[in-house]
Amino acid sequence: MATLAPLPDVAAATPPRAGVARLRGFVTNLAELVSATRNEAEILETGAKLLARLIAQDDWLPPAFAIPHPDRYQQYLLHCDSRERFSVVSFVWAPGQGTPIHDHRVWGLVGVLRGAETSERFVRQGDGSLKPDGPAQLLRAGEVEALSPRTGDIHRVGNARSDGPSISIHVYGGNIGAVERATYALDGTAKRFVSGYASTVLPNLWDRSQTP
Ligand code: FE
Repeated sequence: MATLAPLPDVAAATPPRAGVARLRGFVTNLAELVSATRNEAEILETGAKLLARLIAQDDWLPPAFAIPHPDRYQQYLLHCDSRERFSVVSFVWAPGQGTPIHDHRVWGLVGVLRGAETSERFVRQGDGSLKPDGPAQLLRAGEVEALSPRTGDIHRVGNARSDGPSISIHVYGGNIGAVERATYALDGTAKRFVSGYASTVLPNLWDRSQTP
């Protein structure tokens, strides 16, 4: 396995109440990471540490990207790499909201910023149907989970709270809103879907007049 050069610690160097500067540092570090290696295991290992550091502080997500919708979960694009090597998305769940069973086709990292998320993984059986791969996992604020299509990336996620919204920050190895992938019924029937995004604007990471 290739050794990664140390990444610049941009996120850690930003002051408290850094606002979007913290997110800017995170995407800068991720761009360095995917430039330094194409090894998925290395990207997931180092990316998980970067994401854990990002979500350790809940002071940077602009309020416009934290608003739940009463009818459906929100998938706000926070950043897409200019070469679509990765994207960063804020998932906002109202109580009772969650995804159908789905896959990703690219690597993924899930980190909970606020509240808690449930994650149920599924595996294919010989007859093509899906069965749960162990009990549902509870992901609490500050925790990170990795997903890889190489080891099985079919899951269902949702809000673990019944008394308020939860927000998780997801990072994917592509422009996830444009990736053609599938949702599944338990009998294994796949249905093509391209998720898109709930938002048409992105946070402005590049105005350095307030935070250098
Ligand atoms: Fe997912």
